[in-house]
Amino acid sequence: MGSRQMQISSETALKYLATARISAPLASTWIKILLRPLAVRPTLRARETIYSLVSRTAAMRGLSTWELTAELGLSQKQLIAVESASVDQLSELLRLNPAECAALVSWTPQPLEGVRMQFRGAPVVSRSVMNPTVRGCPHCLREDTNRSQYETVDGMVMRGDWQFRHTAICIRHASPLVPLWTAKRVADRYDFATQLSKIENDLMEGRLDAVTCEVTNYDKWIDQRLETSPGTGFIAVGAGHLAGEKSVQDLLEDRDIEVERLQ
Ligand SMILES: [Zn+2]
Repeated sequence: MGSRQMQISSETALKYLATARISAPLASTWIKILLRPLAVRPTLRARETIYSLVSRTAAMRGLSTWELTAELGLSQKQLIAVESASVDQLSELLRLNPAECAALVSWTPQPLEGVRMQFRGAPVVSRSVMNPTVRGCPHCLREDTNRSQYETVDGMVMRGDWQFRHTAICIRHASPLVPLWTAKRVADRYDFATQLSKIENDLMEGRLDAVTCEVTNYDKWIDQRLETSPGTGFIAVGAGHLAGEKSVQDLLEDRDIEVERLQ
């Protein structure tokens, strides 16, 4: 395990900036220091969500997810709301390019008006992506640790498709997604650094593994839609598609998926 590099405490610095009578140029220098990219940061992985990436950054420092955001002066509330200002701040800190940033946001459910959320470029009902019980594939998480750098859990990637209610299995491992933890408070739920540490031993020793199952065409179809259709909507099915492939519509309705018509 390598040495950990801590950032200066931005919380302290921001407090200082607020109270001290310092010149504007000095203040802007401080802000640049605070926003410089982190030297020790994880590499964004496929389908990764904001909470996963932030949590892995925290885990590299032995911190909880929200201890890290406080340290960096990132607003927990704004991150959970996927507000663009905090996403930009995060991108700068983790040196994400625009494509990576867009992918990260698209796999993270973003609150919209009412009970809807934006997910993979389409509005979905909140309950299809929000659940107090967080699920995942133990095989994926265990494999991820081959890329862990400082702490076992800092390599573990929580994929965006796992939170989608209609995704039942990990296709790669033909393994059902298993409940990993349940937390009513959103802040606890998304503190993956802390939650994964708690179940680390069970995960690594295979105690959370489920019996493998058959991968159905429906599983593959959902997975493909999630993978390839940002912006066009994976639940929203075009009228032509519905007319041509009624079975898809039936399948979706059987599974309690809202079917929307696109204009
Ligand atoms: Zn898997």
